[in-house]
Amino acid sequence: MTVITAEGLRKSYGQHEAVRGIDLEVRAGEVFAFLGPNGAGKTTTVEILEGYRDPTVGKVQVLGADPAHADGGWRARIGVMLQTWQVEPTLTVRESLAQFAGYYPRPLPVEDVVRLVGLEAQRDTRAGRLSGGQQRRLDMGIALVGDPELLFLDEPTTGFDPAARRGAWQIIAALRDAGKTVLLTTHYLDEAQALADRVAILVDGRIRTEGPPDSLVAGHATRITFRHPHGVELPALPERVEISDGRVELRSHEPLPLVHTLTTWAVQNGVDLADFEVRRPSLEDVYLDLTTAPQAQP
Ligand code: ATP
Repeated sequence: MTVITAEGLRKSYGQHEAVRGIDLEVRAGEVFAFLGPNGAGKTTTVEILEGYRDPTVGKVQVLGADPAHADGGWRARIGVMLQTWQVEPTLTVRESLAQFAGYYPRPLPVEDVVRLVGLEAQRDTRAGRLSGGQQRRLDMGIALVGDPELLFLDEPTTGFDPAARRGAWQIIAALRDAGKTVLLTTHYLDEAQALADRVAILVDGRIRTEGPPDSLVAGHATRITFRHPHGVELPALPERVEISDGRVELRSHEPLPLVHTLTTWAVQNGVDLADFEVRRPSLEDVYLDLTTAPQAQP
């Protein structure tokens, strides 16, 4: 079942076209991640899907309705974690969650949400006195408290310490296991790789590539790097050799024979291949290739 569809979505702010023709389909029960540089149009797109902004052009359906004209019943089925702080600073963690729980017909028990987001020790702390990371956890709790079918999480783990990030990942994975659909924006590529069933990389308001992280990565070469051995000529290799800052880099789709050639040559000639590294491609390689390559003009 499709939960989100967008066709030919465009959004202009005055002369600036922030979203330039996005087509999208998100299925029930998947975690879908939007990646892209600052200003790529992720938040604008997500806010259109949430019904907080109207598109300039295009059609959108979310949970069977046009978000711009959806009713309260529709809103009760979605949970939203915005980048901006939406909590009254004088309310405690429990009071804030209880306030938002009141907007939903079948909310989760507040204490369960407090535990889920790891704020047990802060349950009676006023929101304004929480640390930045704790405030983001409260934001996540607010998105969850209505037990929504569809969650929009905009940069959910920004400001989290490493343990809290792992905790948030577990929460998101558990939500997916419970059959919820999650649309996530993030700048953490490891987060997308760990959580997302599919990712879309946005650049300049357009989706440049989309698919499961592993399939996007599959087309990319493995990187082999080592420190350039002083005063030694490298063996002839079929791959292009790049040397910068004293490091040699080779990229190959078949790294095993290359590693064999290099290491055999090094052992036979007594050459030390210092800092020798073989690195499988990651989502970060795909992302950097797409976002740092020169862009076609519209
Ligand atoms: P980030 O990663 O920094 O959150 P983003 O991909 O979410 O970025 P958007 O916030 O959607 O990007 O912004 C896309 C473009 O639209 C940017 O150039 C931004 O300056 C512009 N923009 C966003 N909101 C508005 C607004 N309310 N008025 C005018 N321009 C806006």
